[in-house]
Parts: sequence; structure tokens; C-alpha cells
Amino acid sequence: MPLSSTSKHQEWISGWGQTHPVHATIITPKSNDEIQALAPTLQQWIPRGMGKSYGDASVGHAVIDSHYLNQVINFNQVNGIITCNAGISLEDIHKISIPSGWFLPVVPGTQLISIGGAIAADIHGKNHHQSGSFSDHIHSLTMMTGEGEIITCSTEKDSDIFYATCGGMGLTGIILSATIQLLAIETSWITQSVTQTKNLEETLTYFDENSNVPYSVAWLDSLADQASLGRGIIFAGDHSKKSELAAGTPSLILDTPAPITVPCHAPNGLINPITMSIFNTFYYHQFSFKPAHGIVSYRPFFFPLDSVGHWNRLYGHRGFLQYQCVVPLPSGHDSIKEILEAILKAKTGSFLAVLKRLGAGNPLKPLSFPMEGYTLALDFCHTPKVLALLTHLDEIVERKGGRIYLAKDARMSTSTLKSGYPDLDKLITIKRRLDPHNKIQSQLSKRLNIT
Ligand SMILES: Cc1cc2nc3c(=O)[nH]c(=O)nc-3n(C[C@H](O)[C@H](O)[C@H](O)COP(=O)(O)OP(=O)(O)OC[C@H]3O[C@@H](n4cnc5c(N)ncnc54)[C@H](O)[C@@H]3O)c2cc1C
Repeated sequence: MPLSSTSKHQEWISGWGQTHPVHATIITPKSNDEIQALAPTLQQWIPRGMGKSYGDASVGHAVIDSHYLNQVINFNQVNGIITCNAGISLEDIHKISIPSGWFLPVVPGTQLISIGGAIAADIHGKNHHQSGSFSDHIHSLTMMTGEGEIITCSTEKDSDIFYATCGGMGLTGIILSATIQLLAIETSWITQSVTQTKNLEETLTYFDENSNVPYSVAWLDSLADQASLGRGIIFAGDHSKKSELAAGTPSLILDTPAPITVPCHAPNGLINPITMSIFNTFYYHQFSFKPAHGIVSYRPFFFPLDSVGHWNRLYGHRGFLQYQCVVPLPSGHDSIKEILEAILKAKTGSFLAVLKRLGAGNPLKPLSFPMEGYTLALDFCHTPKVLALLTHLDEIVERKGGRIYLAKDARMSTSTLKSGYPDLDKLITIKRRLDPHNKIQSQLSKRLNIT
């Protein structure tokens, strides 16, 4: 296959947090055959999906952009099994699957990510406690190694490669296609309950006592202090049944409004403790007056931020950091309390603080993030004071036996990585086997001495 349609250009790229930009060569093949033909010609590369990982996971001096590899290869509308190229977005899968009553079994807070990115980060959703992570629903995947070899693997065939690739942050090779079991839905609506909690104990107890609810997530007011520490709003729900809809409501409809877009970077400092405090107080109290139960479309329930294009520009040119950790259950309540208290003490605030309960992880996947416990995701402005706070949070998470999510990370140390991912060496061994010339490297893998 000639390489004539593969394009290459130079561009500044970064993760979604817009920190640490790199001037990169973007290689854009138009087919999987082209990728294979390219392999021997490349010195160093990393796969890139839609660039929605916050830090430097999909950033490198050369990236293979999977943008054009966006075809559905086969979709069986009877059993919900879909085979697609890895560059296709979750949104584009939903455009095909929702009208025929199928939904992706695990979705993150945005559907503007690729299938390859979802597998490589082994993403989790609001239903991890019941449904596990994204790759738990993969029948098989086909990938290309650093040597240009094509491998199809699954939990049955070459399972060590499969498990290392699920959560492997692109370091074992580029995923070309995947076969995924979708979830049957009667409607595209969600029967939602909204619960306002007064403090952390109430918030965490909700998760502990409501594990039968398929989807749940809490927004926390990270500025609330003293008796209100950890207060928040819990959004929980499940796919509505047809019988729950008002007469005449169409049951399976796509919800795709045109997003409004933040046109340019906001001034640095727009998001500060005062604006955060006003936002948090307003956001928390508005739910005192809103109905606690209702039927909402799937989009605002799962993907509320997708209606604002380039919302990352609100943090200004210096960008922002998302910190996501998970702390194990036995001391989970104390751990989350200690983290929230440390944030208050540092007076940095966090614009967005989201808490979820995770179910058990899979120890066969050496770099997969989930473990049974509570996960907290926090957005911070990118400032020296915040960097010092995050190093302190790392110490708490390490001491408690937790770990940091690589899809969000832009700054943790190698020792924090090793403490959170004790099976890292398994990933490194498999990577050396598949990529003996160490071609596949990202800024993240170099920073953390993985490659
Ligand atoms: C608003 C928002 C909400 C989010 N919510 C959640 C959430 O609830 N849960 C969650 O788990 N994550 C969440 N994320 C993180 C996001 O789901 C992951 O970072 C995901 O990996 C992004 O996919 P992408 O296509 O943008 O990949 P990129 O950011 O481009 O790449 C991410 C990683 O995947 C690798 N990769 C990409 N494509 C391939 C491929 N074809 N083959 C091999 N490796 C590949 C890259 O090398 C990189 O290591 C959220 C992100 C945003 C911006």
C-alpha cells in the first residue's frame, strides 16, 4: 500500500489540561494498512486519539493520529456486538447504536474520546461498581506493535498482551480495531435522582448504601469547611424503561445539540477562590429547590461538559491540572477527609471536585487504574502552590495504599507511580517483547521512566 495519503505536519500539541506543550510531528494515516506500512520508517511514536487525556499521555515528538480510522466494521443489531476502528469516537458509536437500542456499556464524562483512548486508559464510568471498566466489555482487539506486527488478542488469546494493552496508555502498540459488547437499552432516557448531602459522612454513606443503583456520581463543594466538609450533590440513575416515559415521548432519540464554544483563552486568574466560592455556593443551593427525581436525556446525565466546546480555555494560557486518585475502602472515609482538609488548608480551591465509588479492579491489568474504593477527581489551576499541594496529596494517597490515574496525570513522580502500580514491571516486560527497539514512547512514559 503506497503511503501517498498519509499526511505529516508539525504542530504544538498538549493534553486537555494544556500544560507542557510539545512541537510534534503529527502522522495521520488514512487506513490501518497505511499504519502498518509506516511502522518500519518511524523512529519514535505514540498513538493519539482525541487528545482528551489531561496530561502528557498522548503527547510525544511524533504521534500517530487515529482521527481518520473511524469506520464501523460490523454492527449486529440483534446481539449488540460491534466491531470498529479504534479512532472512532464514542459519540459516533452512539449515533449508530442508540436508535437501535444499544449503548456503550461504560462511558466517561465525555463522549468525545476515541475507542482506542478508552481501551488504552481502561476508562471507568459512573457504573464501575456494577459494570467494571471499559475493557471488561471487549471481546477482542487488534493492534500493531512497535515492530509493525499485527496481533489480535483477547482474554483467551495472547491474554498477557491483551491485559497489558487495556490500561497500557498506548505503550504496547496502537490499537487498530476492537469488538465490543454493547448494553441493551429500552430508551435513551435516564431516570435520575438528585440528593443533596450535608457533609462527607452523608455523601460516602450514600454510595455505601446504594450500590444497587447502576450509575452514581457526586459533585463535591471542595470549599465547604467544618461541619459541611464534603457536602455535595449526588446524581444517580439508570436507563429508563419505556413504561416510565410520558405518553408520546419518543423512546430512542439522539441528543446532539450544537455545542457553544469558548472562543479563546480566558485571562489567567478568571478561575480563583472567589469565583469558585460563588459558583460552588450557587450550584450547591440550587438543588435545595429542584425536584429530586425526574427523567432526563442521556447527554446531560453522562456528558454535561460536552455542550461547551473548548471549556479548557476557561483556565487561561497557563492551563490546568486534573488530579484523580483512588483510595482503598477500609480507610476510605478517613482518606477522603484528609485530602479535602489538605486542599482547604492550602487555600487553592478546586473548581471541579467529583467523587465516585469504584468496584474491584482487575489485578491482571498492570496499569489499569480502578481498585475497590473511592475515587476523587479535582481540577486545579496550574500554579506552583497547587504543584506543592499535589505532592502532599500524593503522600496521602501512597500512605493509604491508593494510586493516581495516568490518563489525568502531568506531574507525579516515578516513586508514586511504582507505589500505586506494583505490577508495573509486567507491563515493561511485555512492552520490551513487543517493542524491542523502544520506539513507542510518550512524554508521560519518559517522565515516569517507563520507557
Ligand atoms: C471532560 C472529560 C471527562 C472525563 N471523564 C472521565 C471519566 O469519567 N472516566 C475516565 O476513566 N476517564 C475520563 N476522562 C479521561 C478520558 O476518558 C481518557 O483520557 C481517554 O483516554 C481519552 O481518550 P482520547 O481518545 O482522547 O485519547 P488520548 O487522550 O488521545 O490518548 C490517551 C491515551 O490513550 C492512548 N491511545 C489513544 N488512542 C490509542 C490507540 N488507537 N491505540 C493505543 N493507544 C491509544 C494514548 O497513547 C494515550 O496514552 C475524561 C476526560 C475529559 C476531558
